[in-house]
Amino acid sequence: MDPYLPEHGDPNYHVEHYDLELDYRVAAGRLSGRAKITAVAKTALTRFALDLGTFKVNRVSIDGKPTRFTHRGHKLTVQARLAAGRQFTVEVRYVGNPTPINTKHWGELGWDHLEDGVLVASQPTGAPSWFPCNDHPSDKATYRISVTTASPYRVIANGDLIDGRVGASTTTWVYLQLEPMATYLASIQIGRYEFIERADDRVPLRAAFPMRLLDGYAHDFGRQSEMMVAFERMFGPYPFNAYTVVVTDDDLDIPIEAQGMSIFGANHIDGRRGYERLVAHEMAHQWFGNSVSIADWRQIWLNEGFAAYSEWLWSQASGGQSADALAKVTWARLAKLPQDLVLADPGVERLFDDLLYKRGALAVHALRLRLGDAAFFAMLRDWTLQNRHGSVTIEDFTRHAQRHSPKPLGDLFTAWLYQAALPELR
Ligand SMILES: [Zn+2]
Repeated sequence: MDPYLPEHGDPNYHVEHYDLELDYRVAAGRLSGRAKITAVAKTALTRFALDLGTFKVNRVSIDGKPTRFTHRGHKLTVQARLAAGRQFTVEVRYVGNPTPINTKHWGELGWDHLEDGVLVASQPTGAPSWFPCNDHPSDKATYRISVTTASPYRVIANGDLIDGRVGASTTTWVYLQLEPMATYLASIQIGRYEFIERADDRVPLRAAFPMRLLDGYAHDFGRQSEMMVAFERMFGPYPFNAYTVVVTDDDLDIPIEAQGMSIFGANHIDGRRGYERLVAHEMAHQWFGNSVSIADWRQIWLNEGFAAYSEWLWSQASGGQSADALAKVTWARLAKLPQDLVLADPGVERLFDDLLYKRGALAVHALRLRLGDAAFFAMLRDWTLQNRHGSVTIEDFTRHAQRHSPKPLGDLFTAWLYQAALPELR
């Protein structure tokens, strides 16, 4: 059970693979889905729960045999007698007009309509707005996502496009995501997008955007190749096959991270690289959050502290202000604010609080100052390599960092992660 979001996920089984066949009518906003989920029972079960939003569920079967189920609120409870360790396949057929999941702290999450298309932005609990799932960040699985929709639209999903079938009026797009992925990072984007791929780099960089943003994209995202090189040098090898940026025709409040993908709004292109900080932040999440994932939502510092710190690392690597200068300015600004946030346990309502990002980045910088650059970056590369595609806690990180330091780090972590007062930056 997640300490912050216990109503999502079921700890009694583990999903290995999601096979999603979706048919979406853009004009009608209608989704018909068939989800085939391969899972393993962790204990003996008589029933288990999937998270699924307000769809009509037509049929649920286990290993091909129809079974009884109830669908109340966002819980689809399935009757199934399963021995511990037993692998099974649950198939769910569902239909409806997908709507975002309403949340107390973050408004609407998940499947959302654009002016002309679809956006999925699920962090942290929006995934059930479009497919039945075991909605917890630690339950990572592989995915095959097939989407059929009207031919003028392009569909982008996580992983590699492995098949496309163009019919008279509809096109089917099939994506395969073979690295394990948390449910909140699963995403599909539908729009009238141009698509380009830059394959001459070590990591192919792909992009989808409306034609009108071609020049703006080329300029504002033009340093992503250099960014990828700099981040691989600092964080270790990029953990996925490719990296895709989607820029929607609509404006978005904030960019969105997904596995192997980031989504920006048209407003994040200003022709002056005014949002390059966010370009770096989202790319860094591929290491911190998407490959190395949090074991539960309380561990959010491991995502946001490191992604926010990466903004400063990129600033310095690209000839801008140094990470140290940015840390000092940020420290001085935070010192004037009330100190009421504990990074290791920020509370559910402050998961995405700006203070968590800024203080989170400062904590990473404080560790860097203590370790020195050589040991700090070796520690970071080791962290992303050892926990590649895994799930981690803050305690895993502090133990890991300690192994890279001859001197005890306990006082540093206590002050920065477990106490609210803002420590001095030395
Ligand atoms: Zn972030």
